[in-house]
Amino acid sequence: MLACPSDPSVKEAFHWSVSPEGGFLNPAYRNNAVSYFLGLHAVPEHPQSILLGDRNLRTNGLGGCTSGITIAAQVYEPLHATGWLPAIHGLTGNLLLNDGQVRVTSSAELIRAMGDNPTHDGTHCFLFPR
Ligand SMILES: [Zn+2]
Repeated sequence: MLACPSDPSVKEAFHWSVSPEGGFLNPAYRNNAVSYFLGLHAVPEHPQSILLGDRNLRTNGLGGCTSGITIAAQVYEPLHATGWLPAIHGLTGNLLLNDGQVRVTSSAELIRAMGDNPTHDGTHCFLFPR
């Protein structure tokens, strides 16, 4: 569930143990076993906000996030440099929106999807697996 079958660098875990034989909690797996970023600004009041997406996101710069999670990345507007890198699904990527809808998006569609942003301050905070 955490690994996209098209992700060439994901190391799929098979259970939640610390076992070096496929245990998600083993240091060799953890972030390496996850294909998706997590949207930290997804809130119920914004059903179209991005809950998660493929990790192959290109941005115009990443910085410290105001979410309080220090390893999260902040993507700044304008979003013209934001898009998908061809690492997983060509130049498209999958998004899971807060209402449960999954969208296959181009880079232009990704930018439009980032429009339902609860912060209203031009920042988007994402937690990337690696
Ligand atoms: Zn995928």
